[in-house]
Order: sequence, then structure tokens, then C-alpha cells
Amino acid sequence: MLPEADSYEGLRDRFVWSVPERYNIGVDVCDTWAERDPDRTALIHKRRDGAVETFSFADIRRLSNRLANALAAHGVARGDRVGILLPQAPETAVSHVAVYKMGGVAVPLFSLFGVEALEYRLGNCGARAVVTDAVGAAKIAQIRDRLPELKLVLRIDEAGEGELDWHALVDAASEDFTPVDTAADDPAVIIYTSGTTGQPKGALHAHRVLLGHLPGVEISHDLFPQPGDRIWTPADWAWIGGLLDVLMPAWHHGVTVVSHRFEKFDAEEAFRLIADFQVRNAFLPPTALKMMRAVKDPQTRWNYRMRSVASGGETLGTELLDWGRQTFGLTINEFYGQTECNMIVSSCATVMPPKPGVMGRPAPGHDVAVIDGQGNRLPPGEIGLIAVHRPDPVMFLQYWNNPEATAAKFVGDWLVTGDQGELDADGYIRFVGRDDDVITSAGYRIGPGEIEDCLIGHPAVRMAAVVGVPDPLRTEIVKAFIVLQDGVRPSDELAAEIQAHVKTRLAAHEYPRAVEFVDSLPMTTTGKIIRRELRTRG
Ligand code: ATP
Ligand code: MG
Repeated sequence: MLPEADSYEGLRDRFVWSVPERYNIGVDVCDTWAERDPDRTALIHKRRDGAVETFSFADIRRLSNRLANALAAHGVARGDRVGILLPQAPETAVSHVAVYKMGGVAVPLFSLFGVEALEYRLGNCGARAVVTDAVGAAKIAQIRDRLPELKLVLRIDEAGEGELDWHALVDAASEDFTPVDTAADDPAVIIYTSGTTGQPKGALHAHRVLLGHLPGVEISHDLFPQPGDRIWTPADWAWIGGLLDVLMPAWHHGVTVVSHRFEKFDAEEAFRLIADFQVRNAFLPPTALKMMRAVKDPQTRWNYRMRSVASGGETLGTELLDWGRQTFGLTINEFYGQTECNMIVSSCATVMPPKPGVMGRPAPGHDVAVIDGQGNRLPPGEIGLIAVHRPDPVMFLQYWNNPEATAAKFVGDWLVTGDQGELDADGYIRFVGRDDDVITSAGYRIGPGEIEDCLIGHPAVRMAAVVGVPDPLRTEIVKAFIVLQDGVRPSDELAAEIQAHVKTRLAAHEYPRAVEFVDSLPMTTTGKIIRRELRTRG
């Protein structure tokens, strides 16, 4: 969607949104390519047993048409919510495409959710059907009688009693299907937020959300797509980062996606997959990068050649940037967004000089600013609220069934992200912290990210999280929770050494006055540190 230009300013100034009035994600990512280049590879899936399956765009159209017919025959209608409770798999992608083409609303659900998480989300959105596997079905069985609106459970493996067999349905259905003619503004998908700050909220998005992602995707992958591109992410497609930052935008561009389901993220396996499948582009969240960083000498062990790596969801930091240069020979592009309004800020090493420690600049097409509580733009150098001006094609329609929360998200025409940041003189945006995570100490506002980045620069530190704990003198003091590298023993001497490490590198008021060694950090299923939990531990 980006115009031809070789500078950020050129891309930004010449950019025009092209969002047709009638638009359907499923048609865009599948049928269009199935017409234009039917044999082109859409998906390369590495199964758990190591076998590899390949699907062309024509295959995806055939399968999604059949599934759409089968769902319609079982009463699923336009506007109905369909839960997709599956890990990365061909059936997951096909189910999404089918639901979009039927005019339904897909509700991606993370396969490792427990029964409570599922009951909350399926109940909240009133799902009529859910597509799942044995693991998911066992959980659904425990809550099905409390979900009166849930009429159909489809299984991609063997169906049990009261369930339908996805493959049998698909095999029996016709492959002729006329997609529902949707408006770009019609609902397409409900994605629940990570729940880092409280109960997750269902962000309802329109079909246009995919087009809204394109500028951010394209710049965060150094002008995606380029010849030979092939993309992969370990992020589950149940999250916006997997679904709308990788799978769907890649297919919009006709780029092959590599998929695999990790039981648990495995850094060595990630390098192997990148090498074996000649992955050229990846979205790797900071937590994944930190785990990959613990692998010794990947360059000599695997033969890979990446073209672009994008990272977002949490602060990237200079340590990981440096490591990325050594490991991939490229600059990792940080991007920023949230489930409600995503990929709105990004770096792009090819057109803007990278600035360690800042997220990047507004992606072309998005008006992102730092504002005060009344909606006034703040000048560079002042910390305020990161906000996005509406209308914007990537912006959500509303929180599902929650008008109060939707209204509270806006100040005038600004969507307020709930994050604090600061603009610099060159128009880059520095992330300070989530509203709740910003530490106030001796009159300073301190973001945890910079300190955590400095901490992981110490050779003994594997992961770190920083929070403010109440202090009578300074309001709050900085406390660090630290996970050590394998084989390193905690001690008071080591704590003092780590404190000194920060003191000599950052401002004196930023060093952690308290240090606690822990075995692991509380994380959301998306791999984000839940600092709120650490704060209550004190
Ligand atoms: P909830 O809204 O339920 O508390 P959540 O905000 O973690 O959960 P997401 O929408 O998955 O749910 O995450 C978006 C948030 O992640 C952003 O608002 C921001 O706080 C954080 N984030 C995203 N990108 C970055 C980045 N590049 N640097 C720092 N933080 C980031
Ligand atoms: Mg949020």
C-alpha cells in the first residue's frame, strides 16, 4: 500500500489510503490470489511429527468455500461469531477465511487458554460455533452447558459425541461459494486484549482492519514485500500480532507463510525452522528474542539468511538490537500498537536512521501524537499520552458489548492508548510505559523499559522486570525482579554488582534500590510481563 519513495518523509507525504467501500478480508487474502496465481504457495506447514504440508491459494479457496457451505448448512449466518480455538495449523487459516467470506465474525482463541478464560470469552461474544481440536474440545465439554448460544462444535481431529468432524464436513460440501458482499466497515473479527492490566476486552474490528495494518507491516519489514520474501512468526495466530501482523497481510500480498505449532517456544527450534524453511521475514516478540539470545553461536550452527525482523508488543531495547545485528546481520525494526489500534508506529531501518531505545515514527497514514489529558498535542520533549486520531482504518469499531469502555477509550477524536510516551525533535516516539507501570520516584517519571534493557545487558541476567514499590521518602523506589542465566547463583554480591551496573549506565535515580531474584516472571499468554502482579508482591 506504500507509495514509491526512498525516504520516510516521501512515504508519509505521498501516502493515500486505498480502502474500497465494499471489501472482504477473505476475498482479498484468498480468492483474489486464487484467481490471479492459483498455484502460488500460500502456506507451508511443519507438523508436530515433522511432516511438511503445502497449500496453494487455490487449495485455500477450495477448502474455505467448502467450509463456508458446511457452516451455512448448519445454520451459521452473517454476523454470527465463530470461535477459532486452534494453534497455528492449515485448518486455522482456512476457518478464518471461510468465516470472513460468510460475513461471520471470527473470534480467535488461544489454544492454551484454560476453561475459565474460554468461558469468559465465548460467553462474552455469544459464539454460535467453535472450531477446535481434541485439547480444546475437552475444555469446551466442561463449559458447554453454560454457553447456551454455542450450537456447534467442530473438530479438526476425530469428532466425539455432539461434535462435528471438520474434515468430513469439508469433504462433503460443494466447493462453489459466493462470498457475502461486505462493506469495509462491517464487523469481521473480535480479538481479546492480552489482559495485562485487567480483564481482557473484546476489540471488534471491521474488515478494513487488514488494510489499516498494511503500512505498518510494510515498513516494519523494510518495505515488504520484496522478491523472495517468506514469513513466519512464533506468535500464535490467535493474537493480533500473529493474525493481522503476519498471516493476513502476507496473504494480501501473496507471500508464502510458514507455520508450525510449538508446544512451548523453543529458541533452538526457532533457529532451525528459520534455516530449514528459508524464512526471510519474521515477527519475533521481545520475549522470543530474549530466549533466542540465550542460544550460543547460532550463526555457526544454522544456515539462515533473514531479510527483515520486526518486533513489538513490549520494549525492544538496545541490547536486543545489538544482538540482532550480530545474529541476523540486520537491524530489528521495533513497532508499536495495541489490539484496539495496531501497528501505528514503527521503525524501518531502510528509510529512517534507527534510534536505539525509541519505537520509531508514525506509520504512513496514521496520525499518532503525544497529548495531554484534554486532547492537546504536546511539543517534543514532554511526556504525555500516546494517542491516535480518528478516523483511521486500523482502529477498532468498539469493545464488544461494552459501550462504557468504548467511550472511555476516547478523548474527543483521540483514541487514548493508555501508554505514556514522548516525541523527540526528529518526530520519533519514545515509549515511557503503560500508565500503571510508570514509576514516580523523587519527582521523576521513570519507565521500566530502559532499566530492564540495561539489566539484561549484565551477563548474568536472562530476564528482568522493574516496578515501583511504595517508599515514604521518594513516593516509590525502583525494584527489579531478575531471572538469572542458567547456572548462575543468586547472592548479595551479585545483586550489588547488578545495581552498580545500572548506576554507572543510567541516571542515578533509575537504579533499582531493591533487587529480588526469581525463577520466572509472571507473563500473559502473549509473553508480556505482568508488572501489576509484581507490584502487589512488593
Ligand atoms: P490489556 O489491554 O487487556 O491490559 P494489553 O494492553 O497488554 O492488555 P495488547 O493489546 O496485546 O494487550 O498489548 C498492547 C500494549 O502492548 C500496548 O498498549 C503497549 O502497552 C504494549 N506495547 C506494544 N508495543 C510496544 C512497544 N514497541 N514497546 C513497548 N510496549 C509496547
Ligand atoms: Mg491494552
